[in-house]
Amino acid sequence: MSSGSEPRKILPGAVRLPLERLDAVLFDLDVVLRDVAPDVTAFPDTVELVERLRDLGLSTAVVVAHRRCREALRAGGLAELFTAVVGADDKEQPERAGSEPATLLLAAGTLGVHPARAGVVDATKAGVLAARSAGFGLVIGLDRDGGATAELSRHGADLVFTSLGAVGIDEDAARRRWWQTSRTIEASVGHAGWLLDYAGVDPDGEGIREVLCTVGNGYLAARGAAPEVDAGPVHYPGTYAAGVFNRLRTRVHGHVHEDESLVNLPNWLVLRWGVDQDRWVSTDGPGVSEYRQTLDLRAGVLHRHYRYVDGDGRATTVVSATLVSMAAPHLAAMHATFVPENWSGTLHVCSAIDGQVTNRQVAEYAPLAGRHLQPAGQGPDDPVGLWLRVRTSQSGIDVALAARTRVLVPDAQADVQRQVEMTTGRPAETFTIPVCEGRPVRVEKTVAIYTSRDRAVTEPATAARQAVARAGSFDDLLTAHVHAWRRLWERSHVELRTDTGMPALALNLHTYHLLTATSTNLVDLDVGVGARGLHGEGYRGHIFWDEVFVHRVLVLHLPEVSRALLLYRWRRLDAARTAAAAVGRTGAMFPWQSGSDGRDETPTELFNTRSNQWMPDHSALQRHVGLAIAYSVWQYYQATGDLDFLRTYGAELMVEIARFFADLAEEDPATGRYGITGVMGPDEFHDGYPDADTPGLTNNAYTNVMTVWLLHRVREVIDLLGCHDGGNPADALGVGTEELARWRDITSRMYVPFHGRQIISQFDGYADLAEFDLPSYTARYGNIGRLDLILAAEGDSPNRYQIGKQADVLMLLYLLSAEELRDLLAGLGYRWPRPALRRTVEYYVERISHGSTLCRVVYAWVQARTDRAASWRFFTEALSADISDTQDGTTREGIHLGAMAGTLDLAERGYLGLETRHDALWLNPRLPQEMVSLHTLLTYRGHQLHLTVTRHDLTLAVSPCNAGPVTVRVAGHPPTTISSGQTITVPVKPAPPGRDPQS
Ligand code: BGC
Repeated sequence: MSSGSEPRKILPGAVRLPLERLDAVLFDLDVVLRDVAPDVTAFPDTVELVERLRDLGLSTAVVVAHRRCREALRAGGLAELFTAVVGADDKEQPERAGSEPATLLLAAGTLGVHPARAGVVDATKAGVLAARSAGFGLVIGLDRDGGATAELSRHGADLVFTSLGAVGIDEDAARRRWWQTSRTIEASVGHAGWLLDYAGVDPDGEGIREVLCTVGNGYLAARGAAPEVDAGPVHYPGTYAAGVFNRLRTRVHGHVHEDESLVNLPNWLVLRWGVDQDRWVSTDGPGVSEYRQTLDLRAGVLHRHYRYVDGDGRATTVVSATLVSMAAPHLAAMHATFVPENWSGTLHVCSAIDGQVTNRQVAEYAPLAGRHLQPAGQGPDDPVGLWLRVRTSQSGIDVALAARTRVLVPDAQADVQRQVEMTTGRPAETFTIPVCEGRPVRVEKTVAIYTSRDRAVTEPATAARQAVARAGSFDDLLTAHVHAWRRLWERSHVELRTDTGMPALALNLHTYHLLTATSTNLVDLDVGVGARGLHGEGYRGHIFWDEVFVHRVLVLHLPEVSRALLLYRWRRLDAARTAAAAVGRTGAMFPWQSGSDGRDETPTELFNTRSNQWMPDHSALQRHVGLAIAYSVWQYYQATGDLDFLRTYGAELMVEIARFFADLAEEDPATGRYGITGVMGPDEFHDGYPDADTPGLTNNAYTNVMTVWLLHRVREVIDLLGCHDGGNPADALGVGTEELARWRDITSRMYVPFHGRQIISQFDGYADLAEFDLPSYTARYGNIGRLDLILAAEGDSPNRYQIGKQADVLMLLYLLSAEELRDLLAGLGYRWPRPALRRTVEYYVERISHGSTLCRVVYAWVQARTDRAASWRFFTEALSADISDTQDGTTREGIHLGAMAGTLDLAERGYLGLETRHDALWLNPRLPQEMVSLHTLLTYRGHQLHLTVTRHDLTLAVSPCNAGPVTVRVAGHPPTTISSGQTITVPVKPAPPGRDPQS
C-alpha cells in the first residue's frame, strides 16, 4: 500500500466523535482512496482514523460501488483494514456520487449494528443525505477542498471536517456508559443487550413480535404492529390506556355472559403508503425485502426498515420509528422516511385514526361480544390534522385522539396535496407527494390521546387537539422521551454480568416492559397492575395477585409507583367489604380478578379449546389474593418507611384483609386448631377434592401460613402507629380487644398440614391423591402446562393427582425467608428443621407442570440455595418465557408481567439474599456460578443506594441526601448503620458448589 503525505489540518475547535454511542463507522470509498492509477493510494488521515477506531473495538466498513473498487482496495492492501467491504459487486455505476441508503443499510446489516449506532463518513451531498435519511446515528461530511462545508451541513451532516486528522477521539468515551451521552439520538443502544432485533417477515411469529415490541409509558401502550397493517389473523395493532374498561353482555348457548375488558382503543398507527393510489403496500405482501424491526430498549423506540420493489421494478426504502412518549404521557409519534431509489413520480400516503376497532384478539373470547366503542364525534383540523372521539358503550368513557401528519419534502416548493375523508369512526387524510429519485420524503405523525378519566381537562377532544397542536417535531418529542427513559433506567436497571453474557437482553427486556406497563406516569392515576400489562387482551386486562411479584421490584426502584398501585386497591376496599359480607364474613375479600370498580370479574366458565366445551371455572376461590395485597403494603412500608401511607391507607387495607382471613379461620374443637376451608391456593390445578359436590380445599398451607404472617404484621402495625402517633391505633382502626386476642390466638394455633417426613402438604389430603404419570403425559402432549384442559378433555381432572400447575407451598419460601417461615411455624408449635425444607422443596420440584410463567421464577428462587444449577436453569427458562413464548401461544395476548418482574426480583433479591424487614436492609449474597456481578440502584428509605455485588465483595454506596441513616445487615458481618455519602465494602463468602449448607 502506498499513501500520500498530505499535512494534517487540525480545525480550530476540532470536535470529538461521540464514540460512546457508536458501534461502527462506515466510510464511502471516495474518502478512503485518493488515486487508483498509476498506483492505488489511500488518504493517510482516513487510514489512521480507521485504525484508531478498530483499536477501540468499533467495526468499520468501506462502501464501494462496483467490482473494480474492491479490486483496487485489494491491490492497495486496504481491504483488510476494514471489518467489511460492502457494495454492489456486479453493477457498473460510473456516475456514482456518494453512497446510497440501501447500500449503507446493507453495510450496517453486514456489521450487525443498528444504523442508529453507526456513523457514516461521506464527501458528497448525496451520500450525506442518504446516511441521514437511512437513520444513521452520526453523519460526518468530509470537505477536503474546504468549499462545501455549508452544503454538506445543509444536507444533514452533523459534523464537517476538512481532514479526518481533525477528528478528536476520546478513548474513554468509547467505554463510557450510555447515560452519560449528552445528546439524544434515535437509538441510544450500546450493545446487543439493548436491542431486540428481528430480521425478515414472519407471519407466524408476528403476534409475539408485536407484544414484545410494544411501546408504552404506563398511561398508554401500543403493540408494535406495523403502520401498514389491519387487525387480522397475523396482525393485531392494539392500543390500550390504563384503567379504560367497559362491560359487555353476550348470550351464548342460553347463558348470559357479562365481561369487563380493557378496551382496545382506536388504532392511531395507521400510515399506509403506495406508489399508485389505493394500492397500499403491505409488509406481508410480495416485493418486501431486507425487513428489519428493532426495539431499542434504552430509548423506548421501535425502528423498522425495509425495501419494497413493485411490479414495475420501482424500489423504495422505508425507514420508520415509533414511540409512545415517556415524557409527555398523552403523546405518541412516529416518522416514516421513504427513499425512492430508482424512480420519480408520486407517492401516496394515508394517515388515519381507526375507531372501528373491536376487542377481537383472544380466540377463546370469540363467541363473546367485542365492540366496546361508539363514535362520538370527529373532524379535520385545518390546515393539518384529524380528530376522533369515541365513547365506551357501558362505562361511558370518552376517548379522544388527535393526529397531526406532516410531510417533509426536500423541495419546499413541491406541490403536496391533501385530501380528507371522513368515514364515520375513521377519519383519514391522504397526501399526494411528488418525489424524485434518491431524495427522501419524511412523514411525521404525532398523536395525542385523552380520556374522560383524565384530570385537568375540559373534555378529551379539546385536550387532545390542543396537545397535538402544541407538540414539537418528532425529534423534539424523541429528545424528551429518551431523557425520561434514561431517568427510569437509571433507577431501575439491574445490571447482571455473567460468564456467558447470557441474560442481559432478556433481563433488560423485562425491565423495559415493566416500565411500559407501570412507569412513573401512573402515579396520579387510579389503575392497577394488569397481569398481561397493557400489551394485549389476554385475561381482559384484569388485575390478579401477580402484582405481588411486581411490587417486590417496584418498592425498591420506583416506590411512588407502588404506592399509586396500592391506592387502586385501597379505593376498592368498599367493594371488597361488600364481597366479604355477601359470603357472610367480616373484613375485606378482594376479588381474584379485578377491573374498574373492584367487583369480582372472574369468569365462572372457561372455554376449553381442546374439547370445544365450556367448563366451570372456580378460580374465584383464590382468596389468597388479599394476602398478596397486604404483603405488598408491608413490603412498601419496609422499603420506604412511609408512615403517612401506612397510617392513612396501608393499615386499613391490612386490617380489613386480616379481619377477613381471621373470620375464615374456624376453630376445630377436636384438634384445638384453627383451619380454613373452601378456598383455593395459588395452584390452579386444584380447585377441590375429587368427586366432591362443591369446590374448595381445606387448609391450604399457603393460605393458612400467610394468614398467620399477616396477623403478626397487623399487630406490628398497630404497635408502630401507637409508638409514633400515640393514642390507640387499634381503636382508630376499629380493632377491639377481643378481636386482637382472637388474632393472637390464631397466630399460635393455626393448623398447617404436613405429611411424610415434615413435608408441608399443599392442603389436607394432598398426599393421599394419586401420583401423576408426568413423563408419559409429557411424551404424549409435549407442553403439559394446561393439564387441566388436557385432563378435562379426557374426562379426568388434575384434582385427582399430586401434580401442580404452579408453586403453592413453595410460594411461602418465595415471599418469606426460610428463617421467617421457620419462626412462624415454630410459633404454631411445628418444628421444621433445615432438612425438612429441603425435602419439601424436592417433593414439589418433582410434581409440577410449570403451567404458569410465575412458577419457574419461584422454583429458581427456592433452589437458589439448595441447587444452584437447577436454579440457574429455571431462571434462564423464566427469562425466555415470553421471548420464546413457552406458554404455547399466550404471549401474543400480552406479556406475563408478574413473571417478568419476578426475574428481576430473583436476580436482585433472590441471588443477593436481599430482604427489607425489621427496619433493616438484609443482604446475604449467593451468586450462582454463572454470575460474575450484579449492580443496581436501590431506593431505600429515602436513600439512593448503589449496590454492587461481585463474587468477592459487596459494595454499598449511598448518594448524598438528607435522609437519616439506615441499618444494613450483611450476612456474616455485624449490623451497621450507613449514612448519606458513605460507602461500605465487605467481603462476601464464596458460594460453595452445589448445595448451600445454610438453607
Ligand atoms: C396463573 C395465576 C395468575 C394468572 C394471571 C394464571 O395462569 O395460574 O397464578 O394469576 O394466570 O397471570
